[in-house]
Amino acid sequence: MRIGHGYDVHRLVPGRRLILGGVDIPWEMGLLGHSDADVLVHAVMDAILGAAGEGDIGRLFPDSDPAYAGADSLKLLEQVVERVRGKGWQVENVDATMIAQRPKLMPHIPQMIKNLEMILGEGRVNVKATTEEGLGFSGSGEGMAAHAVCLLSPAQ
Ligand code: MG
Repeated sequence: MRIGHGYDVHRLVPGRRLILGGVDIPWEMGLLGHSDADVLVHAVMDAILGAAGEGDIGRLFPDSDPAYAGADSLKLLEQVVERVRGKGWQVENVDATMIAQRPKLMPHIPQMIKNLEMILGEGRVNVKATTEEGLGFSGSGEGMAAHAVCLLSPAQ
């Protein structure tokens, strides 16, 4: 078994879609980034890559590369899973936490889990959400953060 951790932050700005775990959430602001800025999927990818000792998404999908402009992060996750499978690993489970003051994410979590489990396998994903009680950049609504941990086991 191998364990990995991922952490990501994106800034909230007007005029961008808010996409978390592949769910397009109606909101007055969205996350700024080169790709679709799906902070949750980014943290999950970094956890998987970390567990496999394969670096991070910045190395794999550089934001200087126009190929990844507006990229669907779930498609990048598929590539990450293929890559670690090529190294002999499969995802045992992923546990992730979204940190956002608003909007309420709870109603969207089941669909986020479905989207991630389409790629990582049924029953292998847990997603939670918390606020930071109005403190810091998440509390002020300047941005959102996500943490994830992943366990890999030898591929069957
Ligand atoms: Mg990111």
